[in-house]
Amino acid sequence: MQTNRITKKILNWYSQNKRQLPFRCTKDPYKIWISEIMLQQTQVSTVIPFYEKWINKFPTLQSVAKSKSDILLKSWEGLGYYRRCDNFHKACKIIVENHNGVIPSDYDTLKSLPGVGDYTAGAVLSIAFGKGISAIDGNVTRVISRLYGIKNLTIFNKLKIKNYVLSLIPPSNPGDFNQSLMELGALICSPRNPTCRTCPISFNCKAFHSTYPDQYPKKVKKKSIPHYNVVIAIIWRKNKFYIQKRNIESMLGGLWEFPGGKVKKNESLKEALKRELKEEVNFTPKIKKKIISVNHSYSHFSITMHCYYCIEFESKIIPKDPSKWISNNEIDKYSFPKANHKIFNFLNENSWDL
Ligand code: SF4
Repeated sequence: MQTNRITKKILNWYSQNKRQLPFRCTKDPYKIWISEIMLQQTQVSTVIPFYEKWINKFPTLQSVAKSKSDILLKSWEGLGYYRRCDNFHKACKIIVENHNGVIPSDYDTLKSLPGVGDYTAGAVLSIAFGKGISAIDGNVTRVISRLYGIKNLTIFNKLKIKNYVLSLIPPSNPGDFNQSLMELGALICSPRNPTCRTCPISFNCKAFHSTYPDQYPKKVKKKSIPHYNVVIAIIWRKNKFYIQKRNIESMLGGLWEFPGGKVKKNESLKEALKRELKEEVNFTPKIKKKIISVNHSYSHFSITMHCYYCIEFESKIIPKDPSKWISNNEIDKYSFPKANHKIFNFLNENSWDL
């Protein structure tokens, strides 16, 4: 059968060409799961050191469940999309409390856990438990749409892609097969310049025979993302400065930050800073100097963060809960968003002096 032939070719290519990745040397569902969570929206090369450090520090699901979220967030710091860490923590606690610490091996129960979607459930169940379930990410979607000549990623066509994958999955080796499709998409069938001449399935590939394989599937035009100006204050009291914790339900929830916020239309940076500080900590600052402006991009927007040194003068901060006064030597004890680290790096290389 044609599908059998395609499956064999892809698996054969995978066995000879796959990258040696630390999470590929295990069938431990906990390790597969955390690697898949880390890999969402994040490049393999970025994930590897985070994964290795994480497994070293939290070798089991139980060790995650009993950890404080601050400790977990510190290990996640720099990886981005912090909600993933919070959801994973919640899911591990549920498994310890409701499933005797054993990761569920059925699709519906696994998918009911926080942060587990179709893809993650499919990856964990196929790789760790050997179940014939698809795990369709962007790489797989691209390979299959090219192989079968699917141009538009409509809901109907996405279902078709899923059925094609299911028809190709070998019952004896679903985990390797799912990974082989992802690897083919990552290494050969790349979005812009697929290297079809080295592809094991070029003979069967409709996009390849169409001359312009990179036009499959049709690209969806990305909307331009908004840009915001943000002001923040490093407020000094003697040799310590004020930080507060972001609400766990907000973006970057659970991380620490300086008080501040978005600049409104027609507002100067200093006006915005004074308004934000009044709103957040009921404080009128004495602004000493501007330190630096840094740019940072998130998935749905970008910011320029303008950072000011301030001191308490006639007005005193009404601290938010939770908040701290820390010295610059204590930064490593707390998790901050990446944009803040750009400011810390600048200050470390220049000077923290007021
Ligand atoms: S032949 Fe080219 S387009 Fe088709 S699956 Fe292989 S790399 Fe992708």
